[in-house]
Amino acid sequence: MTNLKGYKEIPIGGIIAEAGNSIKYKTGDWRSLKPIWTKEGCVHCLMCWVFCPDNAISIEDGKMMGINYDHCKGCGICARECPRKEKALHMVKES
Ligand code: SF4
Ligand code: SF4
Repeated sequence: MTNLKGYKEIPIGGIIAEAGNSIKYKTGDWRSLKPIWTKEGCVHCLMCWVFCPDNAISIEDGKMMGINYDHCKGCGICARECPRKEKALHMVKES
């Protein structure tokens, strides 16, 4: 015999009521490292945009425009993949 509750007794969990609602959560708050973009060193290859798991690289007319810090979690993938990482993207500690 088990004392586990049935589905009618357990509390209701998280409900996702609408699609695409992640835009409302500023996951950049989680960040401990921050990517810094140096415009002058950027060749606009967009590798950072391709690899960013949070879609936090801003693009306009096919060119890198900067980083959306509201949603960047500081994973560092963009800096790792940037072919010009010495000049265009590097990670620093979040202040
Ligand atoms: S640090 Fe991570 S989340 Fe932030 S812009 Fe780079 S790849 Fe995207
Ligand atoms: S990967 Fe580096 S060089 Fe390419 S667009 Fe991003 S910052 Fe610029």
